[in-house]
Amino acid sequence: MRSTFAPRLVNPPFGDPGLYVGLRHQGRAMLFDLGRIDRQPAAALLKLTHVFVSHTHMDHFIGFDHLLRIFLAREQHLEVFGPPGIIANVRGKLAGYTWNLIDSYPFTLTAHEVGPQHIESTHLPARTAFTPEPLGTRPFQGVLVDTPELTVSAVHLDHRIPCLGFALTEKTRLNVRKERLAELGIPPGRWLNQLKDAVRAHQPADTPIRAEWREGSTQRSAAFTVGELREQLLVETRGQKIAYVVDTLFSHANLVRISELARGADVFFCESLFLDADRDQASKRYHLTARQAGSLARAAGVARLETFHFSSRYDRDPAPLRAEAQAVFRGELPPDEPN
Ligand SMILES: [Zn+2]
Ligand SMILES: [Zn+2]
Repeated sequence: MRSTFAPRLVNPPFGDPGLYVGLRHQGRAMLFDLGRIDRQPAAALLKLTHVFVSHTHMDHFIGFDHLLRIFLAREQHLEVFGPPGIIANVRGKLAGYTWNLIDSYPFTLTAHEVGPQHIESTHLPARTAFTPEPLGTRPFQGVLVDTPELTVSAVHLDHRIPCLGFALTEKTRLNVRKERLAELGIPPGRWLNQLKDAVRAHQPADTPIRAEWREGSTQRSAAFTVGELREQLLVETRGQKIAYVVDTLFSHANLVRISELARGADVFFCESLFLDADRDQASKRYHLTARQAGSLARAAGVARLETFHFSSRYDRDPAPLRAEAQAVFRGELPPDEPN
């Protein structure tokens, strides 16, 4: 079965971090981190609906201007999520330019500041020169985005400042067995979406559901329960999961949070700025080593580990960084343990 998420790093491993994820059936995309993105085709960037910023160190946020410029005259909307301070950071970027000729521009931006307990949101429309319209706060319990198809969740990690780690999880895929539907002699219709919604909402098996269709000018219908249709008609497949973690200290608290966040991911994208030989540098700078990335991936039971965000001190060769992380991930070298 074709995968729904098409993730790719936006830069080579020594470049700025950033993960672009195309959402195949929806014709849109999400971006994790906003470092340099000027090598990306505008057409790909214009598919973005959501941008998730781990923290606003320059290598994770310098791409904001480029994105803004591409979206500015478009009838589009962008949701930007980030750690405490992101609203001020976004407003600071916007305050760096003069906006006297954009009152006919339909572009709008909403910034969401993810605190430990609450998400505070502010709407910033181009037509009013990005005058903030506060949208208030809502409780934060780990989930940033929840649609019928997917969720995006986040945890706060310690990078000497709060840094967000993210997981993108596709909900269980529900496909209809066409041959069974044909046997029932009922044409597909809106009732199939009602069935899928009921299954996704975990409604009880005996919940009634009515299939309705037209035969010529006659309106027909048939009564079922969600349970029987689910069993007869639906094929359920576990969805994909992608986790993204950058710039974080290898501490016990971070390890617990990351292994929960990335649990069972199909792909785990993890920074590893340093080699194990430079582990002191790594902890001083609140970053991970390749060995630590491998240890996290192993603890989280992910299927595949992809390391990136390598220090320029090794920039002649990414191979030792990758080899170290993979050897620990596969269990060929012992994992690291937090102090
Ligand atoms: Zn960084
Ligand atoms: Zn950083």
